[in-house]
Amino acid sequence: MAINAKVPESWKGRKMQQDKLVSLFQAEFERCKVRKGENAIVLSGESGRAEYARAATEAIRNLGANVFEMRTPSVRREAVPGDSKVTIVGLTPISGNKLAVDTLKQADFVVDLVLLLHSPEQVEILSAGTRILMVVEPPEILERAKPTEELRNLVESGAEKLKRAKSLRIISDAGTDVEMRLGQYPVMTQYGFTDQPGRWDHWPTSFLYTWPNEGGTNGRVVISKGDFIWPLNRYLSDPITLVIEDGYIRTIEGGGPDAQLLREQMASFKDPEAYAVSHIGWGVDPHAKWDALLTQPDSVGTEPRSFAGNVQFSTGPNLEAGGKRHTLAHFDMPMLGCTLMLDGEPVVHKGQLVS
Ligand code: FE
Repeated sequence: MAINAKVPESWKGRKMQQDKLVSLFQAEFERCKVRKGENAIVLSGESGRAEYARAATEAIRNLGANVFEMRTPSVRREAVPGDSKVTIVGLTPISGNKLAVDTLKQADFVVDLVLLLHSPEQVEILSAGTRILMVVEPPEILERAKPTEELRNLVESGAEKLKRAKSLRIISDAGTDVEMRLGQYPVMTQYGFTDQPGRWDHWPTSFLYTWPNEGGTNGRVVISKGDFIWPLNRYLSDPITLVIEDGYIRTIEGGGPDAQLLREQMASFKDPEAYAVSHIGWGVDPHAKWDALLTQPDSVGTEPRSFAGNVQFSTGPNLEAGGKRHTLAHFDMPMLGCTLMLDGEPVVHKGQLVS
């Protein structure tokens, strides 16, 4: 992932600010139940934030756990097939590095600053019982969007509903009408901390999702003006329509520059699996800022994904769900104003959570 290593001027090189980071990390690791006697690794690299590696290491030591930093090289761009210009997933600084993977599997807790998400090695490390916490958002967002038990409860109660559902339908005034069959894949939750063996999470996020059955998605998804697409990191200025048949986007319609950009970037992976439907769900955080990237362009879009009542459509991999689809292309598309129904019952109505 092309994680932007820039740190705002106000956070650079100042002891006070580093202390503030340590205290933010320490509070987060307490939520993750990092404790005396545990073994932790901070997985860092050239693409991550050096300040975070230092702060994470110090915070873990403050909690009495054993810790060291495992520093990795960047993914070589020539190793990426196709000519994509956007962030990739699933090819990481430890891909193919058995010693690194085996070492991480022996840790109780790993702080991931390099984005292992959607990689086979992340699945393998989690299967050993290691907890993984991804941290890539800028400090202002870590400070603002604190995980809470209340958000965890909202995520988990949504997950209970999603687990029982056999079908999911999304509609919107913009023209979205898409149906998905469910049941093949598990429901996953993100509430911003990992306190159970084998759990992955991303600090700070508040949403839940599952993957539709293979081939089980049909309809149209209209991403409207003002909706967000990662990794283009754009709020759309013109609508895009995705025509989906049997689990794959067959056509990307739209005459504006956003549609053109999405067509180009998805095609740039030269991978048919880029067009597969991936995780589908909704966000629950009433304090998340939908327009966070207007003031913090270094963000990877955590807040639009967590924003209460957004409905998130995505494309690409399903490895972490237990599927076999490994692709470096992954696009998340949180949308406003949608209604999401489970077996006909709305859980999100026109962009508002149904309680
Ligand atoms: Fe995603």
